[in-house]
Order: sequence, then structure tokens, then C-alpha cells
Amino acid sequence: MSTHKTLVFHASGGNLVISAMHNWHITVSDDATASERYAAEEFQKWFNQAARLTLPLDTMLNDGQIIIEASSTLGNEDVEITVDSRQIQISGGMARGILYAVYQFLEELVGIRFLTADHTYIPDASALQIPCGSYTYSPPFSFRWSYYRENSDAPEFAAKRKVNTVTDAENLGGKTQQQLINHSFHALVPYGTYGESHPEYYALVDGKRDTNTHGGGPQLCVTNPEVIEVAAESAIRQLSERPEATNISVSQADTAAYCQCETCETLNEAEESPMGSQLMFVNAVAERIEKAHSHVKVGTLAYWYTRKPPKTLKPRHNVQIQLCSIECCTLHAIDNPDCEQNQAFCQDTNEWGKICDDIWIWNYNTNFRAYDLPFPNLRSIAANVRYFLKNNAKGVFMQANGNGLTGEFSDLRNYLLSQLIWNPHLDADAHLNEFVNLHYGAAAPPILEYIAFLHNNVEARGLHPRCFPTPEDVGLDAESAQTIFDYFQQALILAEKPEIRARIEKASIPAYKAMIVAGGEMPSEKRQTLIDEYITLCQCYNMSHAAETQAAEAYFEELRSE
Ligand SMILES: [Zn+2]
Ligand SMILES: [Zn+2]
Repeated sequence: MSTHKTLVFHASGGNLVISAMHNWHITVSDDATASERYAAEEFQKWFNQAARLTLPLDTMLNDGQIIIEASSTLGNEDVEITVDSRQIQISGGMARGILYAVYQFLEELVGIRFLTADHTYIPDASALQIPCGSYTYSPPFSFRWSYYRENSDAPEFAAKRKVNTVTDAENLGGKTQQQLINHSFHALVPYGTYGESHPEYYALVDGKRDTNTHGGGPQLCVTNPEVIEVAAESAIRQLSERPEATNISVSQADTAAYCQCETCETLNEAEESPMGSQLMFVNAVAERIEKAHSHVKVGTLAYWYTRKPPKTLKPRHNVQIQLCSIECCTLHAIDNPDCEQNQAFCQDTNEWGKICDDIWIWNYNTNFRAYDLPFPNLRSIAANVRYFLKNNAKGVFMQANGNGLTGEFSDLRNYLLSQLIWNPHLDADAHLNEFVNLHYGAAAPPILEYIAFLHNNVEARGLHPRCFPTPEDVGLDAESAQTIFDYFQQALILAEKPEIRARIEKASIPAYKAMIVAGGEMPSEKRQTLIDEYITLCQCYNMSHAAETQAAEAYFEELRSE
């Protein structure tokens, strides 16, 4: 069990005895909102199973009751619960807070665990006593995205994980109006619209105007005054169509081919960073946007060649800076002083923090080159999230297998990531252990040993894998791949029942992948068997992508045609 609690508790004395609640009702008002009603239904569904009770939903006040009601005086994701011997009041902000309050109550005070979309751990809580008093929580990040397709495909589950970025469904409280700060030049000054008539709007690269649309390119010539006006007009028009928006992205394309015209380069040289011309542009567009939409923030990426802040230029007050950690080592925490690879990122984060009070983070949590290869970052996630919080980040985009199902430990990772961005102070090891024990039962020990081996092996080899590592970068060779494979074979032997065996088979896909890509010389018959079993498992557990840009089926074809 976790050694840290999320809810802040103030005791009022005594305990509520669950077994004494058999004649209670769950009270939700007649004119409840969709999310209040859903929160009450969810409470009834899960609490009754754990408490072994059949409490009815009711609209009237009763003698013993659980009142489920959102509060307009709370922040929209705040949680406030009071427990006394005759009543539980579960309250939360509009519209997600009330649902989160119910889930937080069920998890922390009843012991339920929403592990995956189809695995909820429900303890026997019939003899439980809950200390009376008040329980409150206010999440520190207002934008939380554990970027797994497991969330977008199952928004009801994402709500249980308190991921607030995937659904508009009213009963689930909708999503934050804060949009992901993302590449947007192609949407603001579309190459298809202006490319032919105004090639000078686009980046001058090696003496020529760029025409390459890869990665949302070409980049813009950001010092061209007409480009500033076109981009601002586009942004203002987009915002008029989306009046609920609280921000808009004005940000570089995903390519390194930025403009090297004389005006852009002069500014970049003076500011000692290509962010010089970019930020001048973003500020100019943000100034125009503010006149039309004064409440809207303008987000831009500090990414790749723009991560280093300019020497003198500062972001306008309505500009958000989203730092991207793509160059960082994923084994070590970003602020681990022993990892040299991460020091430049820390330095830039520090500098941005001095000139901008609206910092956001884009962090990388998978191997984009091979979604299903063992990825040793489980020891750094919690420290990273705490580092982002310490540096006043307002939201975190934990990018992972967003377009792919059944990546390496995607269930465990999504659980941990979502848990930590809801509460960065949780004990990540305790939560990891708990997940593995609840999800894999008697087979948990070899799986925990595998996780320890994977990380120890990479640490011992002095490696610093990033988010596109090769098998060698994550310490895989014939020997380590075999060791990893054997852990999962042991786990399969220990599986107590078919559903646990299925979970282990799903988790074993990366062990097969390790053998296929790093298992070394082996008899061709053995290799063929590994490949056949790998493909069968991937298909059985709906693996959709082998990499960010490769569908699973295309990868299977590659393997079959070896
Ligand atoms: Zn230029
Ligand atoms: Zn490192």
C-alpha cells in the first residue's frame, strides 16, 4: 500500500462503521447535473460491491446517507469529503471534481483500485471503519495527460484515472479547456493556401524557400511582417469558432529546417538562440490575439533548437512556454546531477522560469522507435513529475503510446503516470508494487524481478537511453534478452487463473521483441517459433502499433518476409 495519502485529513473524532450503513441511501438531487448523477451511480456500483451492501439511489434526504453533490465554490477539480457517523458528504468542483471525489473516496478510503479498463480491484470492505473528519485535495496540475490510447479508447476509465484531456462527455465532466500546446504553423499559415503565391512566407533553408511539408512544415519566415498578420488573423478566426478555448498554439513545425534568411538569422545570433526570432514572432502574434481575445493564452513550444531561451527577449504576459524534454535521458531523472545528458534541460528550465510564469511540460515516456521494446524509465517518472512541479509547471503532457494499444507495460505505465500527475508526491515504488501484485497475482515476483533487472542492467552498463533507443541503448544483448524472456516464462508458470495468464502473456510481448531484435545467433527454427508466437500474442492482445509511425501489421509483414 502507498506510504503517502492523497487526501488531506482533519479528524473530528470517532469512526464510521461500514457494516452499520445497511439502511443508508445514496442521495443525489432531482436536478443533478449529468456528472453528479454519474458520480452517484458510480459510487453505488463500486461501493456496494466492496461494502457488500445494496444502498439505493434516492433524491430525498434520509436518516443515514451519502450525499453526492458538486459545489460551485470549489475549484473545478477540487475534492472535499466529510465523514461522520450518520452521513458522508462527497463534494467536488463542477464538473469533474465531483466524479474525482467519488473515485478518490473509493480508492483511498475503501481500497478499490481502478487498474485497467477491465480490471478493477475490489477489496472486501464490509468490516471497514472510516475515520470521521474532513478529507480534501486540490490537484497541482490543471492539465494532465497520460498519453495512452488505453485512455482515449475508454474515456470512462480515463476519468477514473483523472486524466482530464480526452473526452467531452458531460457525464464524465468534459475535459479541460486548455488545449495541448502543439505544432501549429501548418494550421495558421497553411502551405497549401500560401505556398505558391507567397513562397517568401516560408523558411529559407540553404538559400532556397523550403517546400517540404513533412512534420507540419515548412517552417515560417517568422520575421516577415505579413506572416505575422496572416498567422494572427488565422488564430483569431479559430478562436472565434471555439469561444470556450483558454489558449491557442502558435508554434513551430516538427522539423529542424527553420528560416535562415538574413533578418531571422541576425535576430537569432543577437539572441544566441533560434528562439530569438521565434519568440519575437509569437509575442507579435500574441499581442494581436490579446486585442480580440483578451482572456486567451498563446502557447508555444520550447523544443529542440528553440529550447534555449533568448538572451534578452522575454515572453509576453499572455504567452505560455511548453518545454520539451526530447533530448533527455529517460533512465535517469531530469534533475539527477549524475546524468550529464539532462543538465542542459535543467539549465533551460531554470532560465525560462525566471522570465515566464506560465510553464508547461511535454515529457517523453516511451520508445517511439519500438513501442513494445523494454523501456527502462520506471525509476525516473516520479522524480521527473516532482521536478516539473517544483519548477511551477501548470500542466504535463506525458507522451507515450498515444496512437497505439498494448505497448510495453502500457497498463502499468498508464496507471503510474496518471497516478503521479494527479498527485506527484505519491510513493511510485509502492504503487508499482501494488499494481503488479494485484494485476499478476502469484506471478508478481518474477515480473518485479524483471523490472529490477531491466533497470539495473542499463545502470550497470552506464547507458543513457533517450526516447528513440536502439536495443543496445537499453542494454539488450543475447544474454540479457534471454534473462528477460526467462522471467516471463517463470511468471507464466505461476499464473493462477486464465485471466492472469492472459495479462502475463500481454506483458510478455516485449520479452519476445527483445529476443527477436537482440537474441543473437540462434537456430532458424527457434527464431521462427519466437516470431510466430510474438505475432500471435500481439494479435491476441490487440497490439496496434510497433512504433509511432509503424502499424503492427506492417511490422509483422517485415518479420514474416525475413
Ligand atoms: Zn526568415
Ligand atoms: Zn542518464
